[in-house]
Amino acid sequence: MKTIEKQYLKPISVREALTYAELHQPRFRFIAGGTDLLVNKFQGNEDSLCLIDLNGVDELKSFTINHDYLHIGALVKLDDLRKNQLIQNQFPALIESAHAAASPMIRKTATLGGNILCENRCTFYNQSEWWRDSVGYCLKCDGDVCIATGGTKACFSNFVSDTAPVLISLDALIEVIDSKGVKTIPLESIFTGDGIHPRNLAPDAIISFILLPIKDKSKTIFKKLRPREAVDFTSLTTSVTLFESNRLKLVIGGVDPRPIIVEGTVTDDPAELIKQAVKKCRIVENAYYSRSYRKEMIRVFLENSLKEIQHQ
Ligand SMILES: Cc1cc2nc3c(=O)[nH]c(=O)nc-3n(C[C@H](O)[C@H](O)[C@H](O)COP(=O)(O)OP(=O)(O)OC[C@H]3O[C@@H](n4cnc5c(N)ncnc54)[C@H](O)[C@@H]3O)c2cc1C
Repeated sequence: MKTIEKQYLKPISVREALTYAELHQPRFRFIAGGTDLLVNKFQGNEDSLCLIDLNGVDELKSFTINHDYLHIGALVKLDDLRKNQLIQNQFPALIESAHAAASPMIRKTATLGGNILCENRCTFYNQSEWWRDSVGYCLKCDGDVCIATGGTKACFSNFVSDTAPVLISLDALIEVIDSKGVKTIPLESIFTGDGIHPRNLAPDAIISFILLPIKDKSKTIFKKLRPREAVDFTSLTTSVTLFESNRLKLVIGGVDPRPIIVEGTVTDDPAELIKQAVKKCRIVENAYYSRSYRKEMIRVFLENSLKEIQHQ
C-alpha cells in the first residue's frame, strides 16, 4: 500500500479550511468520511500531499430550515439522514438511496457531501497500481487509450453516486464556498460529462450545504441495479420525481460520466421520455453488467417507475 500524504490538518471552521487550502495548493484534498478518497489513495489514484479534514467543522453537520429549503450539512453521515423527521416524511427516497450505498459500517462514516463528490468509476480504473500498470494505464490515470473503448479522446468512467440522482430529481441546490466567495447553485450544474474531470468545482471549493425545496410537494421512485444488496457500486441508478405541478424529472446514474436528466410532464408519452433518456446515456462495457443489459434495464426501471409513481 502506498500512502504519501505528508500532512493532516483539522480546521474547525470553513474559513480556516480555506486558509489551509490556499497554503497547500495544489496538492491538497479535503477529506470527510474518507471512504472514497482513502481507497483511491491506497490504489494509487490519488496523490495529494496534504489532507484537510472537514470533520472538525461542526456547522456542516446540521439540519436547518431556511427560506423554504431544508439545509442538510454536507458532513451529515449517510446513516443519519434516516433520523431526520422531515426527510422521513417528505423525501423518503433520499433515505432509500443513502441506504443503497456501500455497507452499514461505511454509511456510518460516509457523508452526503462526499457521496455527491465520490470519484467516477470504471472496471479498468478502479484496480491496483500493479493491475493498471500491466495494461498500460488508461486515460483517467495518465494512459493514452480508454481501455473500455479503445478510443483516445474520451473517458467514460461512470458517475456512481447513489444519492445525487435523487437529490437532482428533487431540484436540490448546493451551497459552495471557495476563495472567491459563497454561491448557491443547482446540484446538476457541477457535472461536466468528462470522465477524467467529472466536476467543474474549483479545487478549494467546499460544499457546505445541500438544499432541498420543501414547499413543492413531490414523490420519488428510486431504483438501483447491482449484483448484491450491499457493498456493490451501482451499474444503473434511476430516480424519477413527480411534482405537484405535474412536472416529471427523470435522473439516471451509473451509465455515463455524468447524471443524465430528462424532464417532462405527466401528459407526455412515457415511451418518448424513456427513448430520450436512453439516447442520452453513453454506456460502454466498463461495469459489472454488460452494456446491452444496462441499456435495456434503463427502459425497464424508467417504465416501472413511471407506472409506480402515478399510483403511489
Ligand atoms: C466498499 C465500498 C462500497 C461503496 N459503495 C458505494 C455505493 O454503493 N454507492 C455510492 O454512492 N458510494 C459507494 N461508496 C463510495 C463512498 O463510500 C461514498 O460515496 C461516500 O458517501 C463518500 O463519502 P465520504 O464522506 O467518505 O467522502 P470522502 O472519501 O471523504 O471524499 C470523497 C470526495 O469528496 C471530496 N469532499 C468530501 N466532502 C467534501 C465537501 N464537503 N466539500 C468539498 N469536497 C468534499 C473529497 O475531497 C473527495 O474528493 C463505496 C465505498 C466503498 C469503500
